[in-house]
Amino acid sequence: MVLEKTKETRPKTLDALREDARDCTRCDLYKNATQTVFGEGGSEARVLFVGEQPGDKEDVEGRPFVGPAGRLFDGILEEVGIDRKKTYVTNAVKHFKFEPRGKRRIHSKPNAGEIRACRWWLDQELTLIQPDLAVALGATAARALVGKPVPITKFRGTLLESAEGVPVFITVHPSYLLRIPDELDRRRERERFAEEMRKVKAMMKG
Ligand code: SF4
Repeated sequence: MVLEKTKETRPKTLDALREDARDCTRCDLYKNATQTVFGEGGSEARVLFVGEQPGDKEDVEGRPFVGPAGRLFDGILEEVGIDRKKTYVTNAVKHFKFEPRGKRRIHSKPNAGEIRACRWWLDQELTLIQPDLAVALGATAARALVGKPVPITKFRGTLLESAEGVPVFITVHPSYLLRIPDELDRRRERERFAEEMRKVKAMMKG
């Protein structure tokens, strides 16, 4: 059943929203995934980080950013001194999309229709939290937040705006940092990402 909710019936708290999202069937991705992986953090968060979609580990555990990329991300936030109590982490698409290959599940990129369908939840997360800014971690998140394709290479490090008028800082997904084969390049890109997180910290009010 497709969830049809009007503004009047929208949940008033993040907990209620999370509960509703458990049964979401707005697109087909719920059919093969283990569970909805909703965002984590409090409504008092000042910055909302948006990734692409849950990975294999997140799908099993039911929590966002708990895989290798999430651990790298946590380490960088700690290093630059961003207080986790002031952050909320979520994904543009809240079910794991994958291709089965033998016993493995290979990550598959969400399409425009899936991003649009799941924007319903992101919209409400933004509305309930009202962060100072959102950070788009990669192209899927940028597309979801800004509402159109955003070339990351061109816009990385800049501010765009979401449909709700929230400033959106554009950067790469931490998983990109893990995939760089050359060690020197990897270190350079990690430092660039850390520098961007320092800018994000400076943009957080309070
Ligand atoms: S991916 Fe999003 S829109 Fe699609 S079923 Fe899951 S929660 Fe619903």
